[in-house]
Amino acid sequence: MKFFKILLIFFGFALISCSKEFNISEERIINADAEPENWMSHARTYDEKRFSPLNQISPDTISDLGLAWKFTTDTNRGHEASPIVVDGVMFTTSAWSVVYALNAATGELLWKYDPLVDKEWGYNACCDVVNRGVAVWEGKVLLGALDGRLIALNATDGSLLWETLTIDKEKPYTITGAPRVLKDMVLIGNGGAELGVRGYVTAYNIKNGKKIWRFYTVPGDPSLDFENPILEKASKTWKGGEWWKIGGGGTVWDSMAFDPELDLLYIGVGNGSPWNRYIRSPGGGDNLFLSSIVALKPDTGEYIWHYQTTPGDTWDYTATQHMILADIEIDQKVRKVIMQAPKNGFFYVVDRKNGEFISAKNYVPVNWALKIDEETGRPIENNKTNYKGTVKEVKPGPLGGHNWHPMSYSPETGLAYIPAQELSFLYGDTEDFVYDKNTWNTGIDIAATIPPKDPNELQELLTSLKGHLSAWNPVTQKEVWRAQYEWPWNGGVLSTAGNLVFQGTSDGRLIAYTADKGTKVWEIETYNGIGAPPITYSIDGVQYISVIIGYGGAFPLTSGVPSPNMGAKSNGQVLTFKLNGKETILKPKTYKSMIKPPPSLADFATISKGEYEFHQHCQFCHGAGAGGGGVIPDLQMMTEETHKTFLGIVLGGAHKNKGMISFKDMLTEDQALAIHEYLISQANATYLMQKGQD
Ligand code: CA
Repeated sequence: MKFFKILLIFFGFALISCSKEFNISEERIINADAEPENWMSHARTYDEKRFSPLNQISPDTISDLGLAWKFTTDTNRGHEASPIVVDGVMFTTSAWSVVYALNAATGELLWKYDPLVDKEWGYNACCDVVNRGVAVWEGKVLLGALDGRLIALNATDGSLLWETLTIDKEKPYTITGAPRVLKDMVLIGNGGAELGVRGYVTAYNIKNGKKIWRFYTVPGDPSLDFENPILEKASKTWKGGEWWKIGGGGTVWDSMAFDPELDLLYIGVGNGSPWNRYIRSPGGGDNLFLSSIVALKPDTGEYIWHYQTTPGDTWDYTATQHMILADIEIDQKVRKVIMQAPKNGFFYVVDRKNGEFISAKNYVPVNWALKIDEETGRPIENNKTNYKGTVKEVKPGPLGGHNWHPMSYSPETGLAYIPAQELSFLYGDTEDFVYDKNTWNTGIDIAATIPPKDPNELQELLTSLKGHLSAWNPVTQKEVWRAQYEWPWNGGVLSTAGNLVFQGTSDGRLIAYTADKGTKVWEIETYNGIGAPPITYSIDGVQYISVIIGYGGAFPLTSGVPSPNMGAKSNGQVLTFKLNGKETILKPKTYKSMIKPPPSLADFATISKGEYEFHQHCQFCHGAGAGGGGVIPDLQMMTEETHKTFLGIVLGGAHKNKGMISFKDMLTEDQALAIHEYLISQANATYLMQKGQD
């Protein structure tokens, strides 16, 4: 008896010590349903369903759901991470690629790793200095840092194991996506197509960070050797332009999925650099592999097949949106499909063995294409919205009918849950495009992006922006239910076997609906916009729902529209809920009211010049119309001190350690002064409007 006791103690001890080794492996992720208490991969499983078998929290119990713990990060910039949870520890990230290891039951900080990204590199990030999370594998934490480094940390204490630079630092590449890990390789892509880069994905040896293979998504300079035969073929679909000087685009900045049985890796490929195809490829052509799903052999990076959602993309219609693998019955046959709702507004079902088109239907209002031809799987473009030589309102706009916020698929309801939105955009052609490596290179008319000054027109524009959660049947290509929101840019989705769907909203609520019918069964106010997808796990038989909150990303930065209920400069927070959780969410301080700006004395020509230069150089972070979006400083609320030191900040780089670089190579002193006058004029208009409302 005593012997057995000792044996039990020994095994018990061994179990505890090896349970803290964070030993995630390919086999464990493939068999993830055997341990639903953990969330071991970006979307829990390699098929990226974001569905959990946990069901303790259900429509019957959810009224008892309350906050278990909260953890506050060090930054108010956008938070987009999907955490990994294993062995009772949560690994997550904030903006600026900072990693946190937290006790998943209590929120206690175990360790933190800051890769100390040079804040000036943030200028290269089109869409905020966000990060979508880490991977964990055999005791290591893998991080893609904003400045292009791939970093491996010891999962136990956060110490650095190795790091490798994945980009050419002469080019404006950034990493915001989460690495994926399989076959002892770590895969990472990058972003930068708005400024101008050439996209690729690379596989590194997880033991030492050595490069194994790299797949470029678009051809380089055709006068040089192609990296592989498929790129030579792809180059025939690019005609007449000199895309390689700008980069061509096609960045793999977010989505990947893996089918271990078919042994195929799927990557989602982004838009063209520049956006405007009449500049990029004036002779026409599909411009492969822009806006495509591409299947590769994971061991070698060899091309297997592709399906292009937007041939000849000219609207920033990335196909980097989340991809889900499922086996679903269509016409009495079980098909192995890959599903995606890319920016272009159509929901696609494609055979994942060979890339054969199965079906597509628009999930939001679309006017760039009339439909997707059922025979060819190609869009039939709408000539009426062609912006060549003119300006046209196109739906969806560059923020997409669905952006990066991951969707979810429940095998129990057979529905995909899409964080959809309605945003149109005025695309204008431009004749005088000149590539400038220091700024955005979209090749579209900046003047068309300036918001209307008439308050009624502006209000009309703002109320036209909408979002909704769409429960979509991929077999019938029809919406089954919808939750309508006042605002776009709502968060990623989780579905569970508890017949629940969880989604955060840009106006700061975390909401649960029944998965089958869409009945709202729970809601909590968090006082900060939510973009990140919730996840779920369990410890000692208790199910937790966790989400990282923190408004940010492309929409607030470029549009300047803040989250309606957000406090002033609230830092990000991990909020974790359980049944009978008793913690409280504190309401932060609200925005300070506007101080009286200095009088606007400049003439109309100066202000107009400043307005144009502002939208050429500043709107991508400070927002169209200088609204600030609640994330970046609102330039209409500059203090007297900031007004005095304006040139020192804009040209002298006085705030470069906060991410505000010096624009001395992009702007003359005259132009900077004109921008200052435009900001004073905008501030006065907003001040008068606010006073009128008081
Ligand atoms: Ca883009």
